[in-house]
Amino acid sequence: AHLDRIAAVDDLVHAFLHIDRDRALDQAAAVDAKRAAGERLGPLAGVPLALKDVLTYTGAPTTCGSKILEGWMPPYNATVTQRLLDADIVILGKTNLDEFAMGSSTENSAYGPTRNPWDTDRIPGGSGGGSAAALAAFEAPLAIGTDTGGSIRQPGAVTGTVGVKPTYGGTSRYGLVALASSLDTPGPCARNVLDAALLHRVIAGHDPRDSTSIDAPVPDIVGAARAADVSGMKIGVVKELGGEGYAPGVEQRFTEAVALLESLGADIVEVSCPHFDYALAAYYLILPSECSSNLAKFDAMRFGLRVGDDGVLSAEQVMAATREAGFGAEVKRRIIIGTYALSSGYYDAYYGQAQKVRTLIARDFEAAFADVDVLVSPTTPSTAFRIGERVDDPLAMYKADLCTIPSNLAGNASASFPVGLAPEDGLPVGLQVMAPPLADDRLYRVGAALE
Ligand code: GLN
Repeated sequence: AHLDRIAAVDDLVHAFLHIDRDRALDQAAAVDAKRAAGERLGPLAGVPLALKDVLTYTGAPTTCGSKILEGWMPPYNATVTQRLLDADIVILGKTNLDEFAMGSSTENSAYGPTRNPWDTDRIPGGSGGGSAAALAAFEAPLAIGTDTGGSIRQPGAVTGTVGVKPTYGGTSRYGLVALASSLDTPGPCARNVLDAALLHRVIAGHDPRDSTSIDAPVPDIVGAARAADVSGMKIGVVKELGGEGYAPGVEQRFTEAVALLESLGADIVEVSCPHFDYALAAYYLILPSECSSNLAKFDAMRFGLRVGDDGVLSAEQVMAATREAGFGAEVKRRIIIGTYALSSGYYDAYYGQAQKVRTLIARDFEAAFADVDVLVSPTTPSTAFRIGERVDDPLAMYKADLCTIPSNLAGNASASFPVGLAPEDGLPVGLQVMAPPLADDRLYRVGAALE
């Protein structure tokens, strides 16, 4: 049924870069056969899922939304992918994204934009717009995203779906093509809170193949989603994430949702996190620095595209021609910024300074969590903007990440839950919940109470 739905709507929505029709049908048949034989089934046996095309899955191309990886077939499965398969989940295909997960609208994909099913003239968020749109268009009930600066939560917010960024290190980065290694976090996307929790449980937990994977028990996220209980919980509203620059409908739905939590027995207080104002600036130095290094491996020799290899050009010239042709404008912009920020003479002034700000943001969180159980804010300052509106204005695009970035810099757990439609444009609004590292269960407690 989901494959039929994809066939009917995906020409318009363009959530998928690759549809794995035959293999998905085989996987579904294998689940049926197992069931008929009385064999033990995985926890989400037969449930279809859409996989963001930045995680490897053997037998399907991994493009990362980039021309430089067009046609590249990965030789191994990401840990997340393997855990999905071990749970007997059916993988429908790979979803569209901003090139190498850089962007907030999915317009930076080399394969064309994804459209928001709520209004197809608008963006579905980014970078994981394909995964979020697949859910909102009922092409898949579950999806996997990755969140480096908001790429699970912001698409969730603008498509009216649930997006969870687990604690950094709570889900494995093995087989995730790196954007910024100290920030990247795979996570679950779904249309409701319990579905997200069930998927989260399947992919979470220690992986010895990822050196930053946390070797600690996963909290009872499914129990928390089922409990849906916020009575006695202390919830802090972040003073710095709201007010001027936030759409009236976003503020209205956010305020109503906070009032609902209060009526359900939560204790609401205002909390100040003064360094959050510098999060965006710090992130847009740290992220380009890390990605300029991570993307150096696309050198025309090891992966994907090779341009100008005619026996006349030197290896260096082939490398330059390949990177010129294979990378889009945003990727080039960030490589240049990152290379500059890391260069000798500038390192302390830019990268070093940004790392200090990162520490101050983590301390803001620590101070807040000494007093409250979770923090809340709108997920994004505005609802889905129009396709084309911000493509030529990188700073306007970066502002979509204003509320989501602090959690990436600090590494704590964070999620976006739908809280209704903005009255002025009828588009979905998301509420963000931020919890301490390894307290991912608290996100689900709050999200399920709101549902
Ligand atoms: N909008 C953020 C960026 O462009 C999102 C990154 C991400 O989470 N992958 O960097």
